[in-house]
Amino acid sequence: MIEAASLEFLEKLISTPSPTGYEAEGQKIWKEYISQFSDKTESDAYGSALARLTVSNDVPTIMLEAHADEIGMVVQYISDDGFITLNKLGGSDSTIARAKRVNIFNKRGRVSGVIGNTAIHLQETKNGGGKQPGWKDIFVDIGVSSKEEALELVQVGDPVIFTDEFEMLNDQIITGRALDNRIGGFAIAEAMKIIKKNRKDLKVNVLALNSVQEEIGGFGARMMAYRHMPDAAIVTDVTHATDTPGINQKEHGAVKLGEGPTVQHGGANHIALVALIEKVAAEKQIAIQHEATSIRTGTDTDSIFFQRTGIPSALISLPLRYMHSPVETASLKDLEGLIELMAASVLAMTPDQVFTVG
Ligand SMILES: [Zn+2]
Repeated sequence: MIEAASLEFLEKLISTPSPTGYEAEGQKIWKEYISQFSDKTESDAYGSALARLTVSNDVPTIMLEAHADEIGMVVQYISDDGFITLNKLGGSDSTIARAKRVNIFNKRGRVSGVIGNTAIHLQETKNGGGKQPGWKDIFVDIGVSSKEEALELVQVGDPVIFTDEFEMLNDQIITGRALDNRIGGFAIAEAMKIIKKNRKDLKVNVLALNSVQEEIGGFGARMMAYRHMPDAAIVTDVTHATDTPGINQKEHGAVKLGEGPTVQHGGANHIALVALIEKVAAEKQIAIQHEATSIRTGTDTDSIFFQRTGIPSALISLPLRYMHSPVETASLKDLEGLIELMAASVLAMTPDQVFTVG
């Protein structure tokens, strides 16, 4: 069971804006929280944060990794009459943007705005009407009437997010903006909490890493994996739950909300590490689902596994509906399974643990 105090932290973490490249606020509260369950915390030049539990210099170091950033938008252009055109930061979906509220951030604070939605009565239906809008077709109204007024509040390059709040649909299902992947940062912190509680059984060093800039190329994880070169890495991110109407499971795989975290097979996922995770899941009776990697995992796993001479890595994912939208939806049951599985996998490792193939 996820404790009430932990859920409160999850809500705080998700409610703290952390768009790609601007993760500092979220990282601050994550480090503060995880410092209770670690010996030491630190950050690198670009703001990736990590927490350590150290056993000794003679045992392997296992990394637990998630990404700290969320997708967002950026102020691209301001028109003479003060309307703002956005571009995307990461894979933000312009087709769902209209009629949403946004916050724009800069050193002066937070500016509220709305993405204009031309009234249904006034919409042009001919000449390209009904076409899906791109970001160039979207405009933000911040309540000003000129470029000069707008420039007193915002400038080109300011990051932007949708404002949708965290909410529990019932006692199991949560929804909100940026569950991808603030929930991963939460999961590795909670796994550290369990590991610290069972420290007497811990035989390896643990390094929990919350990386920046995943959504634009997995850059934070790449820097930190290169720097620290752990002996193995267990990565967590969200994956598509494909159990809602209109998704072809033959094409995208069958993943259901509430049936457990997924273990991925193939590509960057190291066969021996995946086998250890599956064995631990079976022993602890943690329900898991399976996913096949075609070419890339599409997560920080791709950035970590090939650093230097190779880092045996495995991805455990949290099923998520409506990814990259302000109503991302996940199950606390899956989240509990994910946290338990990461913690138990680390606690199952031996001081001479080596992952090899063949
Ligand atoms: Zn993600």
